[in-house]
Amino acid sequence: MTRLFICSPPMTNVSTSLIHHPYTPPADFAAPQPGVFKASTVIFPNVAAMRHREWKDKSGYTYGLHGTPTTFILEERLCALEGGGQCLLAPSGLAAIATVALSLLKTGDEVLLPDNAYGPNKSLCDAELHNWGITTRLYDAMDPDDLAAKITDRTRLVWLEAAGSVTLEFPDLPALQRICRARGVTSALDNTWGAGLAFNAFDLRPGSGEILGVDISVHALTKYPSGGGDVLMGSIVTRDPGLHLRLKLGHMRLGLGVSGNDTETVLRSLPSIALRYRAHDATARALAKWATGRAEFVQVLHPALADSPGHAHWKALCAPPEGSAQEGGAAGLFSVIIDERYTQAQVDAFCDALALFKIGYSWGGPMSLVVPYELAQMRPRWPAHLKRGTLVRFSVGLESAADLQADLAQALMRLAG
Ligand SMILES: *Cc1c(COP(=O)(O)O)cnc(C)c1O
Repeated sequence: MTRLFICSPPMTNVSTSLIHHPYTPPADFAAPQPGVFKASTVIFPNVAAMRHREWKDKSGYTYGLHGTPTTFILEERLCALEGGGQCLLAPSGLAAIATVALSLLKTGDEVLLPDNAYGPNKSLCDAELHNWGITTRLYDAMDPDDLAAKITDRTRLVWLEAAGSVTLEFPDLPALQRICRARGVTSALDNTWGAGLAFNAFDLRPGSGEILGVDISVHALTKYPSGGGDVLMGSIVTRDPGLHLRLKLGHMRLGLGVSGNDTETVLRSLPSIALRYRAHDATARALAKWATGRAEFVQVLHPALADSPGHAHWKALCAPPEGSAQEGGAAGLFSVIIDERYTQAQVDAFCDALALFKIGYSWGGPMSLVVPYELAQMRPRWPAHLKRGTLVRFSVGLESAADLQADLAQALMRLAG
């Protein structure tokens, strides 16, 4: 059956008219959340516009992979969060890490990683980068002199992390960055822990007159920006347009894109990130403090605890003076080292006995999580600042602190039994 419409272009078939429908809604719609655009194909008004498409900045659209209004909005908001100038989105935090490495390194180059780096970054370096003739060396995150000594004329990239993964040592980040700057090596901070809130990665000494910021900030949006435990995404924020362009070219050639639906969930969560971060922080600090009083734990690792490794560096960077514009704080993570008199089986039974802390990776969502780690495998030379025992990491969700503390206490009875 054929239907006739009085509109242009001429359409005679319902299938055609449902695809090329003439109606467009009024343009001035406004609501608290931006609209969600989804596209692989982006339509150009004419061939000349296609030929002159602009992909280097946000002045136009080319193809869904290279940005939509929805991804552009998230990129700009992440720049506001982190104090950067340009942003790229990747399908996970690890994809963002890999994009930095693959865009900036070539055969013969060397990358330096802190000894407490995020594990999958170490694996990427040990496997793929190694196979492509890129060497990796670890430096002692707590010893800037060690970083200075390990930089050679082949070093093209230094990764920074504050606090370190799992063991949560807080490094002297300004000192490490000053060394990278002096030696002319690009620095990339895994900024997932700080989330753009605990400190400003692009201004590590606010108000001092010294402009000292990292070159690249990578953020696993999977954690606090999402806040739901239900989406994977990563970002790469820079302040240097030239560096951004190198990363953007690598990002483009690797074909990394994010979905409009995933972007929407992060955009929806982002306005509450500072409130959530503060809530996670307060509960984690209360539990970490309580944990210091338990005899089962020989060490509690949380940078805000006075005897945790790097506490003074955390305080200098993340504890802003009264009335300062800086948020400050700490992520909702802490680790304990359980006395070595308990067997691995007892520690596993303790983790299994937890009811509110679920067993699973990641953090930043509403649900508290626990993971026992094999520290001897992660750090072949046991760090002098860590006591011997079995490490268990807690990521604190948004449950009540009292309920979580009661859960830890009841599960600890299992450890004794
Ligand atoms: C989770 C995490 C990542 C990776 O993020 P994914 O989105 O899970 O790939 C990177 N760095 C740190 C410190 C993380 O905690």
